[in-house]
Amino acid sequence: MSFDFDLFVIGGGSGGVRAGRVSAQLGKKVAVAEEYRFGGTCVIRGCVPKKLFVYASQFSEKFVDAKAYGWDIGETRFDWPTLIANKDREIARLEHVYRGGLDKTGVTIFDERATLKDRNTVQLASGKTVTAEHILIATGARANPHDALPGSELAIYSDDIFDLKELPRSIVIVGGGYIAVEFANIFHGLGVDTTIVYRGQKILGGFDQDLRDHLQEEMQSKGIRILCHTIFKQITKRGDGRLDAELSDGNIICADQVLMAIGRLPNSGGLGLEALGLELGIKGAIPVDAYSRTAIDNIWAIGDVTNRVQLTPVAIHEAMCLVETLWKNNPTSPDHDVIPTAVFSQPEIGTVGMTEEDACKAYPEIEVYRATFRPMKTAFAGRDERMLMKLIVDADSKVVLGAHILGPDAGEMAQLLGIPLKAKLTKEWFDRTMAVHPTAAEELVTMY
Ligand code: NDP
Repeated sequence: MSFDFDLFVIGGGSGGVRAGRVSAQLGKKVAVAEEYRFGGTCVIRGCVPKKLFVYASQFSEKFVDAKAYGWDIGETRFDWPTLIANKDREIARLEHVYRGGLDKTGVTIFDERATLKDRNTVQLASGKTVTAEHILIATGARANPHDALPGSELAIYSDDIFDLKELPRSIVIVGGGYIAVEFANIFHGLGVDTTIVYRGQKILGGFDQDLRDHLQEEMQSKGIRILCHTIFKQITKRGDGRLDAELSDGNIICADQVLMAIGRLPNSGGLGLEALGLELGIKGAIPVDAYSRTAIDNIWAIGDVTNRVQLTPVAIHEAMCLVETLWKNNPTSPDHDVIPTAVFSQPEIGTVGMTEEDACKAYPEIEVYRATFRPMKTAFAGRDERMLMKLIVDADSKVVLGAHILGPDAGEMAQLLGIPLKAKLTKEWFDRTMAVHPTAAEELVTMY
């Protein structure tokens, strides 16, 4: 049977674009449909603009620290519209790069919504239908709207922040995960009165307890309010347009904006999956096997829509594995073990492998190497902020099971620590490695 395409990709985010582009480079006939903008969550409304905002927010502390180094900067002023306009320009440039990569490799682009008509036929919003031997769903995820909360329609989501016309003077953030923590630090750094309302005992559930304790303390000492064991009851609008957030402890906080950051849900609705007999999993995730294959053997799914691990590099890795499986006669399952990750809080978190708590449960005996110190750069400026580093080691084999860092450039360090941890190297290899002096990272090879 002949088809219009070897592969039809629904979704032009990091995973879909990578799978489409590399498949086309291998000589396959590929189409990608995207109803919004190429680049997906990461480029358009996630990792990339967020990191730019992190950089913007860090200047307030840098201006203060600069004095100790002899700089007299004078009065400073932050202009939100300038940041938004420059961010828009950069995102448009990156979107162009993504699109250009597809164009150059001969991928057919459909700038419209695509749904499944049958296992080999895609229905486009324009009315056209096309056929494909394989179909890949890479439609990502969207913010959980918290429909059950009265007044939730008054809240904004992380997507909305990037287009706010004005910087709010105050914000209440619901949630204690990646997005809540990163944006609390961004807003605080930009001078916004910031409160986190979290239902749990301490922010960043699932991360190493030491890091959570330290980060929460650092954020609070900077002036970010963190209300734990607290839930939202409702949001109402006041006469002056500001919002009242009513909390479970009876308190009401008034703020210009409420940001809802309580997780993201797979974008699996309205794709025609149910009609094909494809049942969805928890939170609407598309169930796949170890090779990213759905219950229909020529339909595949990768990235956030599968709700395995919601991270851009994971989606890209899944795309590359799929290319091996589909076109190279080399069935390859994505490896989700030992994923380095960063939380771009201030101070930053970089982490890879097991937390101390998880390692304690999994191994009869562990060794914990721990260092806390004031980094040279900020200590000189009179800042009290402490850096924390931890290595978690299996006492028997001496294999390093986890590495956790809180402090400047922790994300950069986590990336490199991913290699020895993935290779299951022992602590001895860390000890044998010569330190680079003076750096903060040298602590990682000098702990005993
Ligand atoms: P997370 O899963 O990280 O955190 C969700 C938070 O919301 C948790 O603190 C959770 O509490 C809380 N929560 C969930 N449901 C409710 C509820 N009904 N009421 C109140 N609180 C609730 O999700 P995010 O939205 O922060 O981020 C989405 C995903 O995006 C992340 O999982 C991450 O994979 C990715 N991301 C990655 C980034 C990075 O790599 N730096 C940056 C931003 C996002 P509890 O802990 O009690 O469950």
